Amino acid sequence: MENKKELRNWLDEYNLDHPLVIGGPCSAETEEQVVKIAHQLKDSDATVLRAGIWKPRTRPGNFEGVGALGLKWLQRAKEETGMKIATEVANPHHVELALEHGVDVLWIGARSTVSPFIVQDIAEACRGIDNPVLVKNPINPDLSLWLGAVERLYTCDVKNLGVIHRGFSTYEKTKYRNIPEWQIPIDLQNRFPDLPLILDPSHIAGRRDLIFDLSQTALDLNFDGLIVETHYDPDNAWSDAAQQITPDTLIQHMKDLKIRKEVGVDEAYQRTLNELRAKIDVADNQLLDILSKRMKISDEIGKAKAKQNVAILQSKRWNEILGKMILEGEEKGLSEEFILRIYKAIHQESINHQEKVARS
Ligand code: PEP
Ligand code: MN
Repeated sequence: MENKKELRNWLDEYNLDHPLVIGGPCSAETEEQVVKIAHQLKDSDATVLRAGIWKPRTRPGNFEGVGALGLKWLQRAKEETGMKIATEVANPHHVELALEHGVDVLWIGARSTVSPFIVQDIAEACRGIDNPVLVKNPINPDLSLWLGAVERLYTCDVKNLGVIHRGFSTYEKTKYRNIPEWQIPIDLQNRFPDLPLILDPSHIAGRRDLIFDLSQTALDLNFDGLIVETHYDPDNAWSDAAQQITPDTLIQHMKDLKIRKEVGVDEAYQRTLNELRAKIDVADNQLLDILSKRMKISDEIGKAKAKQNVAILQSKRWNEILGKMILEGEEKGLSEEFILRIYKAIHQESINHQEKVARS
């Protein structure tokens, strides 16, 4: 797949003057629900209607999708609105049924992408099809595994491909349901600039108030589209209620998002600048996260020292750290002066933290 020239420009053929928008409910619930949402989205930027028919649930006992019956509802929505339709396929039987029912765009879910066996089976079932197939990242932050799934499809002569960034699982609780780890899609984009890259802010966020900012970051990073879970009554959705937004909210978001288009030289410059600034923002957030993590460890050390009645300042240990960091910094192109300054500040903040802990 190294030579991506053979990838077909299926997204260009959609002739959109805005990013691709895929909207629709997490799950198809009833015929009325699917058709109503399609009508609400029909005249917006949303070109493709999504709905999960077979739902992968983390634990049994939750709503697992309506099954093949729902494909008929999607088909009706397509006929009535002219929207394209998309659903998740997790095995060869799903692929066969979806294609039979005129599903235009297939996607492979995050829990399937982790398994080369499952992906291979799906890829064989898709052999030679022209429908775009979108591969969600695996739930674990592994770029090779993600690309491996794309390659399996490519090798089965599926050339209309795309990828969906839906974030990565963590054991630690964070403000996101799945952390974005933007560096991974950025690396993927650098390696395969022609592979359409779509953001799924819904499954990253897990809550609707984060959807807009995530979408803006993705557009600043030059993503090609968005897939957003959309329901007219989000709070009463049968799955993923907290993260769905109404069709009206999605339409408003598309108006409010700053969408950058390629035009003249100045605009090209502006776009590059925006992209680089978005990368800096991502790196700055990572810096803050890692500094905060470091201070929390420092607090733990402070507690341990306080228990043993040991002095906070341990000069020998500190000089060792500094010496090591200066050498490592040099290898990474960071000057000694900078390392000294930054570590002095970090050390001071650590001492402040430990003193606070010792006094409490
Ligand atoms: C979905 O899009 O409905 C879904 C189940 O997503 P993911 O595979 O990203 O969890
Ligand atoms: Mn969902």
